[in-house]
Amino acid sequence: MGATLSRARRDTVRRRLIAWYRLAQRDLPWRQSSDPYRIWLSETMLQQTRVETAVPYYERFVARFPSVEALAAADEEDVLRLWAGLGYYARARNLRRAAERIVRDHGGELPRSAEALAELPGVGRYTVGALRSIAFKEAAPIVDGNVRRVLSRLFAVADLADSEAWRLAGELVPARDPDLFNQALMELGATVCTPRKPACRVCPVRRICAARASGRPEDFPAPKRKPKPRAVRALAGVLVRRGRVLLLRRPSHGLLGGLWEIPNVADAPAPALLELVRERTGLRVAAGAALGRIRHQFTHLDLSLDVVALEDRGGRLEAGVRSEARLCARDELAELPLSRLMKKALALSPAP
Ligand code: SF4
Repeated sequence: MGATLSRARRDTVRRRLIAWYRLAQRDLPWRQSSDPYRIWLSETMLQQTRVETAVPYYERFVARFPSVEALAAADEEDVLRLWAGLGYYARARNLRRAAERIVRDHGGELPRSAEALAELPGVGRYTVGALRSIAFKEAAPIVDGNVRRVLSRLFAVADLADSEAWRLAGELVPARDPDLFNQALMELGATVCTPRKPACRVCPVRRICAARASGRPEDFPAPKRKPKPRAVRALAGVLVRRGRVLLLRRPSHGLLGGLWEIPNVADAPAPALLELVRERTGLRVAAGAALGRIRHQFTHLDLSLDVVALEDRGGRLEAGVRSEARLCARDELAELPLSRLMKKALALSPAP
């Protein structure tokens, strides 16, 4: 049998956490709304993104797409543009696809059942739990990195398996105020029970916490060994023709899917880059001066990108490729979804 708490202790944890959360919660824009759409959007943004980073993105997003219907009717490119810089772009593409599905199959209302929610693109176990508990006030557990750390410490289980974390979260979440309880657990992990130097002295559950009693709360959970990111070298080229920069659109799936970028090739020499430009656009180019090198870290990749100027050797942008390739004026760049990496690469090129 795994870790557990007596009913009395469970009630104490619930009561203390909820009381603490009512007083200590941060004032965040999505907390002022009970609209399931806004809760879904914020919970999606907050996966892999820090709260402070997510706030302005969230505000711009709901101003532009205030409802599921508005998001379902949006162009993927508009959605990606508002997401640009936030990373993990599959989240944005899935949100739009899921919105379409919600309008088509559920009359524009987020479904309440776990099964129907889990069928939506991009909605995993965490989002299902967040929606069921926060939006629909059902006693459904959620486990994210913060919750996992709090549970690992509360029960002093250093190598807390995911399945065990979900089981414990499921035992703890109350039928009454499950929304407040789940948010309290996450908030405690984010602001008090932090990875380093947890503020045990002000923690509402300090008297029950086994890790604190051990005197070494930071030892919980044991650090996970992360695989070393794979080193990748790539070459990118900036072609400027009459003040316009050549951009290509990435396929809509996979890393940075649907975003625009300057032509680039991974692990390949310069002729492959020139060939790529000719094949995808019909334009002829030659390799010019080196502009610089950018290091960029993705979750699994450590990218070293060499950026060169491309010399214009003629040719016309073929009409058939214009939705996938365009010569873009500098002031139009702000209108396109570009990753941070591409913004850095474009910043290396001399202004036309
Ligand atoms: Fe975390 Fe300390 Fe609270 Fe335990 S007492 S839950 S280690 S902040």
